[in-house]
Order: sequence, then structure tokens, then C-alpha cells
Amino acid sequence: MLKKILYSIWLLLFILTVVVSVKNTNFNTFISMIENRTFDLRQNLMIKENSKSVSSDIVIIAIDDATYEYILEKYGEWPLPRSVYAKIAEYIEKQQPQSIAFDLMFVNSMRSDPKSDQMLVDMMKKYDNIFVSMNLDNQDADLRTPPVLPDGMSVALKNNSGRVSFASQTYTNCRKILDGILKNSSNIGMINVTRAEDGILRKMPVLVRYQDKYYPQLGLKVGMDYIKSHSDVQYDFTKLQIDPNSNLLVGNRKIYLDKDGSAILNWYGPHETYPYIPLYKVIQLISGKKTDLDINFNNKIVYFGTTASSLFDIKTVPSSRIYPGVEVQATYVNNIIDNNFIRKCDRSFTVLMGVLLALMTILIVMNESSAFVGSLAAFSVYILYVFATYYAMKYFNLWIDVVYPLGLAIVTFITAYIVKYLIKSRDFEQQYVLATTDGLTDLYNHRYFQEQMRMMVEASKRYESPFSLIILDIDFFKKFNDTFGHQAGDAVLRQVAQTLKKNIRATDIACRYGGEEMSIILPKTEYDLAVFTAQKICERVSSKHFHLPNGKETSVTISLGVAAYPQDGLSAEEIIEMADKRLYNAKHNGRNRVGS
Ligand code: GH3
Ligand code: MG
Ligand code: MG
Repeated sequence: MLKKILYSIWLLLFILTVVVSVKNTNFNTFISMIENRTFDLRQNLMIKENSKSVSSDIVIIAIDDATYEYILEKYGEWPLPRSVYAKIAEYIEKQQPQSIAFDLMFVNSMRSDPKSDQMLVDMMKKYDNIFVSMNLDNQDADLRTPPVLPDGMSVALKNNSGRVSFASQTYTNCRKILDGILKNSSNIGMINVTRAEDGILRKMPVLVRYQDKYYPQLGLKVGMDYIKSHSDVQYDFTKLQIDPNSNLLVGNRKIYLDKDGSAILNWYGPHETYPYIPLYKVIQLISGKKTDLDINFNNKIVYFGTTASSLFDIKTVPSSRIYPGVEVQATYVNNIIDNNFIRKCDRSFTVLMGVLLALMTILIVMNESSAFVGSLAAFSVYILYVFATYYAMKYFNLWIDVVYPLGLAIVTFITAYIVKYLIKSRDFEQQYVLATTDGLTDLYNHRYFQEQMRMMVEASKRYESPFSLIILDIDFFKKFNDTFGHQAGDAVLRQVAQTLKKNIRATDIACRYGGEEMSIILPKTEYDLAVFTAQKICERVSSKHFHLPNGKETSVTISLGVAAYPQDGLSAEEIIEMADKRLYNAKHNGRNRVGS
């Protein structure tokens, strides 16, 4: 009964903890921060195991430190005249690349030369596989009037997922790039990023919102261009859809979106995982200088971006602290090419996993008697779970939460053991009570009496204090049993025991000595006072109406013998013997009395 109550209370507390923890935002942020770290750990392990290889279709042309120096020396200033990019693009286009993407913003600038800019604009008009970038922001409208962007840049979006919202990807302002590009091309992608609370970039928005329109991410633009030329399916890439399962449908691909409209990236090596070509070497190449450069751009996606430390386009990602923005872009496109985005299991699945682990913990703890084996079994289950989540990510791109389910399981493990030992200690108490009391009368049993007698003698010796013993026996009980039956005899025994308890002190110890004989140990009580108590009990019993099972009433009498320490003996045996002798005297002298 008590076991059931304890279990129920515990179960209620457990459910309450689950509900409260799921609802509490601070707690959730805390948990998700640690969960993110486990994601990083899994990603890094996967990279170490070499289970991911990058697509050979992507090449990065990097404006690295050497290029930056080269530009300052040769052109006198940064940024590089746009005509240089135009010339490089023209050169690459001859080799028929898949696309050329500039992770660079060609903004209007005082220093730029209109003629040079025009060359780039013309280049974009000439080829439809050159992509440039723009960035949305929340700049004050007084400082910079939010521009209206051309319609062709945006895509129509039908969001059929109740879960995905672009609220956090909504911006109010934007820095324009060259008018010529805006007017003539729709190959403009956004390069806004999303960082987690810890500053680490794990996911990228697929679309960003501005003036109620959706603008695709540069990586998505480049990816869509790749899908377009690598699949036979006709698809309108200006009208995108998110299905009810939170997947963005693009061509024959499904990109799973987190609830803020971001795609969680699968990360590759620490840095420079893609072929890196310093831009200055390409400049040398096109100006006819001899270089060691031997590269074929045919069918490649060629990404331009800065990696120079002085240009500050450095991000922290799960796999590295120093990761240039252009490589984030490359990773994004690589994920599209390999259909490799991470899918995060939703909250209800996480809670379910937690509850399952917790239930398994309870089963193990409650069924395994050895704490060592139980702990070993439970922790084996947890370790298996961790491994399972790792392989789920490795082979199925699934991000199964670790922290919440394991946390829940470990809390369950600890409380399960507490509950188990609480129950055990209750059992212990019950067993102790069973071992020391007599079932019929609820008095202490003979064994307990003997034990207490020994202890009483020891204690009395040590503290030089007296104690007394009363032994009593019901008169003519054999005859009583013969007349009224054994059942009636038992009832009388119980009622005599009750009468005893009522007439002694709380510190006195009443026992069933055996058969219909009972005894009372009276600590710190002199002989005379014990005789007085014995007489009182004798009178109470003889004047009591005893109820029989058949409804009738009767009376019985008892005879008693009293002995005291130290006057009647210094050992338990001597004192018992003396009390017995005086009981015999009482019987001999007519019963219903205290013997002397
Ligand atoms: P006396 O006055 O000399 O004590 O006579 P008596 O008949 O009581 O004699 P004795 O003490 O020898 O008798 C013990 C009897 O007590 C024997 C048995 O029938 C009865 N008895 C002992 N234990 C129980 C019990 O647990 N239940 C019942 N109903 N009777 C018991
Ligand atoms: Mg007897
Ligand atoms: Mg008797």
C-alpha cells in the first residue's frame, strides 16, 4: 500500500518535472546551448572519421592575405576595380563553369570607377550563371532610405508548415549594390547568417524577408542553378513551397527547415576543405604572367570570397573557429549538391525519447537487486543511446537530442534509487516489527523479552538503578478453553494483553512470555512499586467483562509474581526464576492474587 503511494507520488513529480521543464523557456535555452555543443562534437567526430568528403564541383577563389597585399601594391587600394572581376569572369566562362558566385557585395562607392563597374554589369548581362550577393540589415530609415528591390529578385513562397516562421529572418533595410546589376539581373542572393546564442554559426537561412517579400540565400540561388542543370524535372524556381513536414521543396530536393526558416548545415573539414586558389594568381594568369596555376573550371561552381584576416569575414562554425564566410557558402551549396542537410528531430520526439529512457531506467533499477549491476545496466543503455544518436547523424543526417533525454534519465536514475531505498527501509522496519512482536496479542514476543531482560540487567548494573519484572498466568485457562473453545480463549488472551498495556507506563515493556503467560519489564522501578502495579492489574482483570466471539461475556482471573533487581538476583535468570516462584505461590495460595 505504502509502496503504491510512494510510487504514485514519485510518478506525479516525474510527470510534473517533464511538463515544467518542457514549458520553461530559460531552462530550454540552457538545454539547447548544451545540446548544440553535442551537435558540434558529433560533427567533429564525423569529420575525424573522414566520413564526409566534399564535392569536387566547388572551387574557391580566395582573396587571401597574399592577394590583399598584392592588390594594395598593384592597384593602390581596396576594393579591387570591378573590371578585374569582369576580366576573370570572362576568362573562367570560356571554360564553361557551372556557375560563378561572388560572396562579395558590389556596392555603390565614391571610389569606384563607373566604367570599370559597367564592365561587371555587362558581364552579368552576358552570362546567366554569374551570381552576386547582397545583405539585408535593420539600419535606421533616417540614415538610409530602405530601397525598393526589383521584383525578379524575390521568390513567391507558400508556407504549408505550421512550424516554420521567418519572423527572425525579417529585415527592414538593405544596402544596395550597383544599379546596373539590380536592373539587369536577378542572380542576386542574400548572405545574411544566423548565429546561435553562443555565437556559433550552425545553420543558414534559406530565405530572408524584406518588405513582405522573400529573397533567397546566395547559396540557395547557386544550389538551385545546380539542381536545374542536374535534373530532368521541370520546376519553377521562382515559386517555392514548404511542405507540412517543414521541408523546402526545390526541384527534386527537400531541404529540412528549422523553425526559424534555417537549414542546419552538415559541416566538413576545419578550413580549406575546397580547392583554394589565391585570387592574385588568377590575376597573374589572365594578365599573361607565368604561374604554377593549373586548374580547370569546367562544370565547377566557382566561389569568390575574402579569407584575408584584415577583411574580417570570419565565422565560428561547429568544425572550426576560423571559417571564412565564403566557405560557409560553399558548405551550403555542398549540402544542396549532396542532399546532406541535417534534420533535427522535433520536441515531442525528444520528450518521448526522454520518457522511454526514464522508463527503462525505472525497470532496471526496480528489477535489479544489485546496485552495481543496476547502475552498469542503466549506464550501458545511456551509452548505447549516445552511440545511436551519433550513428543517426552519421548515416541518416538526423539530429536526435541527447541532453534532455539523458538528463531526464539520469535524474530518474537518482530518484529511482532514492525511492528504492526508501521502500527497502520501510520493508526493513516491517520485518523488524514482525520479528519482535507476537501475532495474537501484539505484545513483544519471547525472544524480544529475553533480549530486553539481558539489556536491562546490563544497564541497571552500569547505572546502579533498579528494575522489576512481573510474570502473570491466567487461572484455570485449560478449563476455560475446554468450556468455551479455543477461539474464545484467544479472544480472552487478546483482551488481557490490552488490559496490560493500558495499565503500564510507556517505558514498561509488556511481552507474551509463552502460552497464556505474560511478562512486564518495569525499568527504574523498585519492588514495592512493581507489586503495587501488579495488584492494580490483577484487580482490573478480575473486574473486567471479557467479550466472547459468541457475543456472551465472561470473567477471568490471573495470578502474578514479581521480582526486582538487584534484591532478587543479579542475572536475568535469577530474576525470572524468583518471579516464577512467586507466581507459583500465588497459584498455591488460591489464585487471583500477587504472590509473595
Ligand atoms: P493454572 O490456573 O494452574 O494456570 O491452570 P491452567 O489450566 O491455566 O494451567 P496451565 O497454565 O498449565 O494451562 C495452560 C493452558 O493454556 C493450556 C492451553 O490450553 C492454554 N493455552 C496456552 N496457549 C494458548 C493459546 O494461545 N490460545 C488458547 N486459546 N489457549 C492457550
Ligand atoms: Mg500456564
Ligand atoms: Mg494458567
